[in-house]
Amino acid sequence: MISLKDQCVMVTGSSRGIGAAIVKHLSQREVRVAVTYSSSKKEAQEIFQELDGSGHLLLELDVTKPESITKAFDQFMAHFGTLSALVNNAGITKDTLLLRMKNEDFDSVLKTNLYGSFYCSKEAAKYMIKNRKGNIINISSVVAQIGNPGQANYVASKAAIEGLTRSMANELSGRNIQVNAIAPGFIQTEMTKQLNPKQMEAITSKIPLKKLGTPQDVAETVAFLLSSEYITGQVIAVNGGLAM
Ligand code: NDP
Repeated sequence: MISLKDQCVMVTGSSRGIGAAIVKHLSQREVRVAVTYSSSKKEAQEIFQELDGSGHLLLELDVTKPESITKAFDQFMAHFGTLSALVNNAGITKDTLLLRMKNEDFDSVLKTNLYGSFYCSKEAAKYMIKNRKGNIINISSVVAQIGNPGQANYVASKAAIEGLTRSMANELSGRNIQVNAIAPGFIQTEMTKQLNPKQMEAITSKIPLKKLGTPQDVAETVAFLLSSEYITGQVIAVNGGLAM
């Protein structure tokens, strides 16, 4: 197994779900991580306590607020002195059918998922360009590829994240910075708990591997990308075969 020891990684939205699994898994691989939250401070503190090893950091970071991002990255650099990777994981859904979707619900999903990834990547790239090394991993979704009724805002945000990934990968490649996306399928988290049993059954029956994924499946893919020096501009699907 390739060592990730002493990489220093910022993971947005790591107070629960996939983000929490990422920080926990990376800490087991001797990575030093920043656990971040925007409102779930108590949950983030609990995740922080569960990390392996020492020297990690707990930070408040609201990805919709550039001043919060600047402050969090300043604190990160003061603590670790370097930034190996950023995982843009923070995300929200506000699902409803198109004609019922309020403009503000479209805006807020784009603002968190897409703008948040852009703002954080820009901040991270400042440090990585100086360092001539870095890794940015954006968390997209299978729905960027297949669409999903009732999720026009979310699907638009994730499809845009994949375009952003390719553009940033091209632009930053000359500075030895890799930029990739991971597109999970349906993963067991709070986000998918909102689905009713009928919806859940319909989804599972369409997945070739006949089961939902786990946050650990995504976390291990993040670790894989952090171990690679020759993958950039890609979208890695972790979806049980849901989209091929
Ligand atoms: P959860 O709802 O379980 O967790 C979302 C995380 O995002 C929380 O830690 C939350 O922290 C944080 N967050 C929300 N708004 C903000 C904000 N403005 N600033 C900073 N952090 C914020 O989601 P999942 O773990 O399920 O999803 C994580 C990522 O994976 C998302 O990008 C999602 O779109 C993607 N994904 C999930 C899938 C799934 O099936 N679950 C499938 C495909 C993709 P806080 O409460 O502190 O705000």
